[in-house]
Amino acid sequence: MTVTTHLKPPAAPGQFEYKKLKQGEFWRHIPAYAEIDEATFLDHLWQQRQSVKTADELLATIRDVCSADFYRDAERGFRQAPMAVRVSPYAISLIDWNDPVNDPIRRQFIPLASASLPDHPRLTLDSLHEQQDSPVPGLVHRYVDKALFLPLNVCPVYCRFCTRSYAIGPDTENVDKVALAKTPKQWQDAFQYIAGRPELEDIVISGGDVYQLSPKNVEFIGNSLLDIPHVRRMRFATKGPAIMPMKLITHAEWLDALTTIVERGRTLGKEVVLHTHFNAPEEITWITQNAMRLLFERGIFTRNQSVLIRGVNDTPERMQLLVKRLGHVNVHPYYVYMHDMVKGVEDLRTTIATAIDTEKFVRGSTAGFNTPTFVCDAPGGGGKRDVHSYEYYDRENGIAVYAAPSVKPGKAFVYFDPIDRLSPDAQSRWRVPGIADEMIAGAIRRAGVGEQQLVLA
Ligand SMILES: *Cc1c(COP(=O)(O)O)cnc(C)c1O
Ligand code: SF4
Repeated sequence: MTVTTHLKPPAAPGQFEYKKLKQGEFWRHIPAYAEIDEATFLDHLWQQRQSVKTADELLATIRDVCSADFYRDAERGFRQAPMAVRVSPYAISLIDWNDPVNDPIRRQFIPLASASLPDHPRLTLDSLHEQQDSPVPGLVHRYVDKALFLPLNVCPVYCRFCTRSYAIGPDTENVDKVALAKTPKQWQDAFQYIAGRPELEDIVISGGDVYQLSPKNVEFIGNSLLDIPHVRRMRFATKGPAIMPMKLITHAEWLDALTTIVERGRTLGKEVVLHTHFNAPEEITWITQNAMRLLFERGIFTRNQSVLIRGVNDTPERMQLLVKRLGHVNVHPYYVYMHDMVKGVEDLRTTIATAIDTEKFVRGSTAGFNTPTFVCDAPGGGGKRDVHSYEYYDRENGIAVYAAPSVKPGKAFVYFDPIDRLSPDAQSRWRVPGIADEMIAGAIRRAGVGEQQLVLA
């Protein structure tokens, strides 16, 4: 008997793209940063001070690098946006100003009026219904054994696609924000609630963003939670490493505070990890690599949650590059979320079908533990569902129905694909409210899970 062996052909040179991280003083091509040396650029205080916090400041910074058309488009975009503005010099430096319209980092932080699409007719501001699952301000208790603690409402950057635009950042022209608990005294209510619920073993500390917590408060929150006997797992969640990695290198007190909590947790047999939020492969540079190396050396396990964003990472190739690059810097890709149904950012959403196709390509390209799960945080408070686990998916009309038996039994949760991604026929059906209602009711009937958790605008 002869055995045919299939010799794996050598990897094509393109396979190593994930190792090619941006090197050198890449910020100097921005006129505003041309004179900035490495020590200054890596200084987290300089990054914070120089972060542009208003549309006017941002426009002043980029005036010399973009066209007059782009400038006017962004100016109008900011006037319509529901989210506040804040962008770090690091992020501004990573934008390809020769083609800002299509740039994956520009798309996340700088709105353009010309790109805006009408919102989906079924979209609401707090689409995840976090406020309904909130027993005390700043705590979301939706799942049985885990809760989300939101100790502050500021971030080192403001993302256009933020789920919590109902609460995060200063009020904007279009949105008055909901108040979260923001002081140690207010946090006590959350700690007390957690202490009184023995089933709560797992606390996500998010925000806002824990990058903005002082080292003292990182320790205060960390220790307060570690002191609760039944809390076994904690995650500090931050966008920071993706848009200001140098803070991990130059804000020693902050990293030391986190390390203190991780190490104390370890002595108690409790897991404390960092969760971060990289979306585009370009966000990972030599600076990120050095920062992640520090975390790795200190034994701080780091996982990543991305959002699947149109024009940022919504092709199989882009997502594979992101996943491989995260693995390369010792970050474990954990989740890729469907973009939540958020107001004013329909141009960033994509379809459940796109997520399924992308997942198929990514799975098998690297270690299983570095392969993210693609999830849809079901509108209406059903929680995260594996995108593949729909009870029924009407691909033609972009209606996916999920059930969440361990979170809210007997209810159906519906996610809607963005309408501009559907066929012209389907698009015209959505224009007639009566037909749209019938399509939704039909999908829920076929799913056969129960009454719909109503998500009406
Ligand atoms: C995402 C989330 C969690 C954590 O869920 P995991 O699937 O364990 O990552 C906890 N509470 C809320 C409200 C969440 O949205
Ligand atoms: S960093 Fe997170 S919480 Fe802050 S704006 Fe971005 S997505 Fe929202």
